[in-house]
Amino acid sequence: SPVLVWFRRDLRLSDHPALSAAAGSGRPVIPVFIHDDQVTGLGAAPKWRLGLGLEHFAQSLGEKDSRLILRRGNAREELRRLISETGAAAVFWTRLYDPDAVARDSDIKSELKDEGIDARSFGGHLMFEPWTVETKTGGYYKVYTPFWNMVKSRDVEPPLSAPGPLKAPEAWPDSDALADWNLAAAMQRGADVVRPYVRLGEQAAQARLGGFISGIVENYDKTRDLPGTDGTSGLSENLSLGEISPHQCWHAGQRAREEGKKGAETFLKELVWREFAYHLMHHTPRILDGNWKEDWDAFPWKTDERLSEIKAWKQGRTGIQFVDAAMREMYVTGRMHNRGRMIVASYLTKHLMTHWKVGQAWFEHCLIDWDPASNAMGWQWSAGSGPDATPYFRVFNPVTQLDKFDRNRAYAGRWIAEGRSKPSVEALSYFDAIPRRWHMAPDDEYPAPVVPVDEGRKKALSAYENRGF
Ligand code: FAD
Repeated sequence: SPVLVWFRRDLRLSDHPALSAAAGSGRPVIPVFIHDDQVTGLGAAPKWRLGLGLEHFAQSLGEKDSRLILRRGNAREELRRLISETGAAAVFWTRLYDPDAVARDSDIKSELKDEGIDARSFGGHLMFEPWTVETKTGGYYKVYTPFWNMVKSRDVEPPLSAPGPLKAPEAWPDSDALADWNLAAAMQRGADVVRPYVRLGEQAAQARLGGFISGIVENYDKTRDLPGTDGTSGLSENLSLGEISPHQCWHAGQRAREEGKKGAETFLKELVWREFAYHLMHHTPRILDGNWKEDWDAFPWKTDERLSEIKAWKQGRTGIQFVDAAMREMYVTGRMHNRGRMIVASYLTKHLMTHWKVGQAWFEHCLIDWDPASNAMGWQWSAGSGPDATPYFRVFNPVTQLDKFDRNRAYAGRWIAEGRSKPSVEALSYFDAIPRRWHMAPDDEYPAPVVPVDEGRKKALSAYENRGF
């Protein structure tokens, strides 16, 4: 009888323990993707990117003489239906860690097991299962550096190669047509603009990793902070949908370290930041939707999205170049440089005294590398409400930061058109992507700051001092 392999955020063939186990069983393999509430709830850009990923992955399966069966509905019901239609006696999948997926998957697992189905979850999305990393006293880590010290010398499973052709079932079950799901519906004008920036699928991700390891990684410890350069791996988009595994990145990074490439250790550390975010989400799922440090609930955050300064932040017209460049980069490419993320998050939560959840939600709408754990941790780190967070009184100055990290204005120049006689192609493309109702044009005057840097800093610090906790 066949094995169903239920794909979710693991759209790859290599280093896929669940798929390898299914293929290795010698039984027919039926790859399945289910459009359930978790997909419905995605933001516009991640949902669109998922659609591209699925289309591509279905082609890759086709090259293995296989197919991707698409179903829409409640995951439990669709799996049961598929089991009865195909006579499958096993369902394998790769574990996820956000609380909704955990609740769904554990219910499904116990129900199927009760019915005698071999329901099994496998690792693959993380290198270190969150419950395997403990402090000396048996708790979880709240601070990154000791977490890193605990895991850095651990053995990470060597990546598996892709299975050979997958044995097909005697008859394939029905599948929805991907186009009918219309996963691009909420992207409006953005899709055509963002599409050229997408690095789609497993092969492209592997090629990027190879290029990064043979070149950029050498100086990554320095270039990773310069948003105007191609100085990072750019793999977050692929890691988010599992088009590449963290193990593959880790082993490539280790080899580079052994070859004496200076930036390799910093790269490994960044991969472990991702693991740390998952560790926090597993142990304290509230990090996703509430202040991790609960006394921050009393802080007078603004949340009214009709406020002009919040609109200006989203639309990349705060009048602060670093902020606007980064917000526009995100709208055009679906990604934002890490330094940009830190700057826009600091400006929103401190200068504009706006709740980090407003920013978290906007990122979730716009990012093609959206990741529940890293996004929540990044926002709470920036706001000061998270574990191991930057203290609230450390307010980034986006003007001096620009001088430090974008000295020649390569980044600001690439993304801001207003006030420039010859705006860059990228800066102009922003106006093709944004909704017309924003009423922005490249020949507008560049706006004055909605909240000047010094004034915002003073207000934020005084609110912080009077916070009463
Ligand atoms: P590289 O510098 O090449 O790093 C390699 C990999 O390490 C990344 O792909 C990523 O998986 C991991 N990594 C690097 N930095 C971090 C970090 N600070 N936290 C967690 N993992 C990290 N990352 C996302 O993947 N999705 C998000 O939704 C997301 N939201 C963020 C929101 C805020 C406010 C902040 C401050 C950071 C956020 N990050 C998020 C983390 C980080 O900015 C991105 O992972 C990074 O910019 C991705 O680019 P890269 O792949 O070139 O990274």
